[in-house]
Amino acid sequence: PLILGIESTCDETGVALVRGETLLSEVTATSMEEHARYGGIIPEIASRAHLESFLPTLDSALEQAGVNLEEVDAVAVSAGPGLVGSLTVGISAAKALAASLGVPVYGVNHVVGHLAVAGLVGESLPQRFVGLVVSGGHSSLLSVRDLAADVEELGGTLDDAAGEAFDKVGRLLGLPYPGGPHVDRLAREGDVTAVRFPRGLAAAKDRQRHRYDFSFSGLKTAVARHVESAQGSGEEVRRADVCAAFSEAVNDSLTAKAVQACLDYDCDTLVVGGGFSANSRLRQLAARRCEAAGLDLRIPPPRYCTDNGAQIAALGAAAVRSGLPPSPMGFGPDSSMPLDVTVVR
Ligand code: ATP
Ligand code: FE
Ligand code: MG
Repeated sequence: PLILGIESTCDETGVALVRGETLLSEVTATSMEEHARYGGIIPEIASRAHLESFLPTLDSALEQAGVNLEEVDAVAVSAGPGLVGSLTVGISAAKALAASLGVPVYGVNHVVGHLAVAGLVGESLPQRFVGLVVSGGHSSLLSVRDLAADVEELGGTLDDAAGEAFDKVGRLLGLPYPGGPHVDRLAREGDVTAVRFPRGLAAAKDRQRHRYDFSFSGLKTAVARHVESAQGSGEEVRRADVCAAFSEAVNDSLTAKAVQACLDYDCDTLVVGGGFSANSRLRQLAARRCEAAGLDLRIPPPRYCTDNGAQIAALGAAAVRSGLPPSPMGFGPDSSMPLDVTVVR
């Protein structure tokens, strides 16, 4: 079947076409440039940009795939989590298309989609795996038994998500918004051992209760203190070293706990996804630690890590393969959609 996927949770308008497990096309428009000067996403601007970008994005995706709209067998759309206004534009468009074509619509979980896309851009995913979703809004560990129907959240961040922590540290260091990619780039030039920052939830008392949880706000505060004290004593802040040590602390926690979850759950595959999984140190450390533990690591190429329509089409296609019923036409946006709700029922 031919699945049309629509993504509009935040600032990216994404449309993709997938047939079976083959990605035919994927087109993304973003309003990030308009938000960058405010140092954060402005919801009204994002919604309007989705409205303006949707039809041109759809047209390019159809053209690149070489298919007609009438050939689409099902529509999948992000139902959440995300910004209500942004989600509403995508969901309304998806329902309008599905109703006019007489095909089913699946409201799917954007965060689970970040894992699903790995099966489109590489070999098929195994039925069972551990997923690590690291993005602007999530740092979550998931036990997956069926991507479309059986996902359990093992743990997540108690405060900031990994991408959010990077963006905040970027701001602290005077880097442009969003800071994640800039901190990543500077970190590659820095000396990891120049400063030592704490690892959240590594203390003995937290090890059992928060086995699969993350905490990055203490780390962010440690970076802020380091910068203030350097400035206070008139020293130059060595941004590259700060970025390197900070990045190391975040990625050490993420990869250690992800590998631990694979061992605990007897899974031999770790799938990593979400915008933050474009991070170069995360990719390096995950590769090294998975190899040492004998695990198969699946991380999509960076362009499929950030928000896109392919992740939504991939999860929609998985729902169709698993024989799930379509979502009821009355469903709406769910800004805090739980991770164990993969498809709206
Ligand atoms: P969610 O998926 O939880 O709803 P989101 O969709 O807003 O959140 P994504 O678009 O998946 O998040 O990811 C964006 C985040 O990824 C931003 O915080 C950005 O700074 C971060 N990011 C992107 N590239 C890198 C990188 N190379 N290193 C670190 N962070 C990065
Ligand atoms: Fe995302
Ligand atoms: Mg985004």
